This record gives sequence, C-alpha cells and structure tokens, in this order.
Amino acid sequence: MAEVPHDPYVDLYARRTTGMTASEVRALFAVASRPDVVSLAGGMPFVQALPFEDIAEITQKVLLERGATALQYGQGVGQQGLREQLSTLLGEEGIEAGPDDIVVTAGGQQALDVVGKIFVDPGDEIAVEAPSYVGALSAFSAYEPKWIQIRLDDDGIVVDELEVALRNGARPKFLYTVPNFHNPAGVTMSLERRERLVRVCRDAGIPIVEDDPYRKLRFDGDPIPALKTLDPANVIYLSSLSKVFAAGLRVGFVTAEPGVLQRFLPAKEATDLCPSNLAQLIAEEYLADDRWKINLKTLIDHYRARRDACVKALEEHFPSDATWTHPNGGFYCWVTVPEFFDTPAMLPKAIERKVAYVPGTAFYPDGRGRDQLRLAFSYPTEERVAEGVRRLGELIRDEEALRS
Ligand code: PMP
Repeated sequence: MAEVPHDPYVDLYARRTTGMTASEVRALFAVASRPDVVSLAGGMPFVQALPFEDIAEITQKVLLERGATALQYGQGVGQQGLREQLSTLLGEEGIEAGPDDIVVTAGGQQALDVVGKIFVDPGDEIAVEAPSYVGALSAFSAYEPKWIQIRLDDDGIVVDELEVALRNGARPKFLYTVPNFHNPAGVTMSLERRERLVRVCRDAGIPIVEDDPYRKLRFDGDPIPALKTLDPANVIYLSSLSKVFAAGLRVGFVTAEPGVLQRFLPAKEATDLCPSNLAQLIAEEYLADDRWKINLKTLIDHYRARRDACVKALEEHFPSDATWTHPNGGFYCWVTVPEFFDTPAMLPKAIERKVAYVPGTAFYPDGRGRDQLRLAFSYPTEERVAEGVRRLGELIRDEEALRS
C-alpha cells in the first residue's frame, strides 16, 4: 500500500482500528511475489492444478441456464442447492447438519469476523491457541478482546493449560481452535485431546469455534472425528471451499445450533446482504459432479510431494538445533530456529537471499515467536520448495558463523 503522507482524520478513527495496519503477511506478498523469490510465506492454494476448462464450462452453463439468479441478490443464508451439497459433504465427515443448519459466508474469514461480532464485547476474554491463525487474530481483535493463549504441542492444544487458566479465573466467551493441520503449526489434535477438550469446554460452558478448512487435505493416516462430531451442541463449526476447490470464489460456511445461527445470520447480513450467487452456483455445479474428488486427490498429491520436499530439505539444510513439526496434511510447517536468529528482523536478509517466510510473531497477539517461523509449502513446486528451504538454511548457518 502507498504511504499516506497526511491523514486529516487520524483523530477520528475508532479505537478498534489501532494496530489495523497491513498485516505482516500482506506486506510480504508484494515482495515475495517477485518470480526470483521462493515464497514460503503466503499459504496459497495451488489453483493451477484445477481443471480450468471444466470450470469455464460450468460457469458458462450457470450463466446461460441460471443467469437471472446468478447475477441477482440472493438469500442471506446462501443458496439452497449449495447448502444441500455442503450438508452431504459434512455428512461424509460424520458431521450431521441439514441445509437449514448451514449459513454460507464469504470464505471462512467472514465467519470468523461474524463470530467475533456476535460474542465479543470490548474486554471480553477469548481463548486461542498459541500460535494461532493470523487471520483469526485480526478478525477477533477488531472486537477488542483480552487473549487467553493456550500452548500447542504435537498433539494439538494442551488441554491441561486450558484447565489451569480456567482454575485461575479465565472466563473466555469461546475457544478458537484449528484442530486439523494447524495454521501455522502444522500439527493435528489427537483424538484423546479432542475428547478432553470438548469435555472441559462443555463443563465450563465455553463454546468451541472449530475452524476446519484443511480437514480434507490429509496426506497420511486416518481422519480424526471433528470436535463437532464429538459434541455437536457446543461446537460452532467453520469451513470453506478455499482449500478443496477455489479460494477465489470466496465460499465458506458455518454450522451451529439454531440459537447461534439466529444471531449469526443477521450479523452477517449486515455486512454482505448475501453471499455471491454466481460463486455459489459455480460451487454447486462443481460439487455436483463426483469428478471434483479426483481433482482434490490431485491437489493432495501435489501438497504431499511438497511437504516431503520441505521436510527433507529441512533435515538436509537446517542446523541441528532447529526443530520443526511434521504435518500430515495442510499447507504449513512450523519451525523453531536457534534463538540468535530473530525471525522478524532477519526477514529482509532472507528476501535478499530470495526466500520468504512468515515470522512467528505474526501468529501471537503479544510479540512472542521471534525464534519461530512458518513455511508454507503449498504453492511452489517441490524443487522450488527445496531450494527455498536450502537458501534459508544457508542464511541461518551463515549468521551462526558470523557470531562465532
Ligand atoms: N481459517 C484458517 C485456519 C485459514 O488458514 C484460512 C485461510 N488461510 C481461513 C480460515 C480463511 O480462509 P477462507 O476465507 O479463504 O475460507
């Protein structure tokens, strides 16, 4: 974004806009999209693997056969046909939700914002994982919460720590979690943790906001039941078609108890009136043909190969005192580097060496994470992923050598 030389309204903006500057991730996109830089920064889906011709045909069909609907306003809850498809998809994952239990949103991102809007008054506590999805932190922060940060390990959120926080008087309005292939941590919550988490939250009367856009992007192992399956009444479940189909269509959705949706829907309509009918009808047509599952498998094969390239290159090129997570799906690998390597401060040097990452600090609301970084392996080819990790490993080793 161009620098604003003088803004006469600086004293007029709402308090909630403090800190709403371009996110670290966004600021990076500009530099990192130069072709000579290997960007392991933004978690972009590899849309090039999609069948563009088929999608062009679908789009044409939608416009020719249902143009008057596609180009018109629609219902705030979303198109009935798409909600039926989503209901079937959720059913395949063991989540029971009829079309009337689903509200379509502009990506999962809008659902996060609306969840913040309906639950959080300034000063209310919300519990989040540490680290947490940066987009959720920015969506919620507009509602001026106090953060209760609960540590993650290789099995997901450390429920013991949540219990300690609750014993110490924490009263979060909700707990936000990404149980599968976490962004940014790459870890997946074990079944045992899921069972304990739903029990603890239910007993404490804390709703769980389960954000699950990566669920279907599993490379190995068996799926683990969603929190929504384990405790349907106490979980607000968010997902989207961004990672399994097309992020550019901006189709996400939420399913929750009727009471929650009754608040959610008008709050959402206040921001969008209705989701895009054109995008929804394209999605509906795409999902109606089972070939989409073959396309998804192709995407998963790409992501798996890139994960393999990322982990192998980390093993080869990173110093022995660095550690990283081993994602079984999704887009991200989370790396802890030796402390001397200050990840926000070192980013410009990394970009000079033609590799970009997201510093760990982006994923905590309190400045933690200076010795951590996120690598997104979803977009560059395997060779580029490996080369990017090699460049970064070389930079860390060179910096280490300079110090000794
Ligand atoms: N939740 C998580 C955990 C994500 O990683 C993302 C996208 N990076 C989103 C929600 C939002 O995605 P979308 O709005 O495209 O559904």
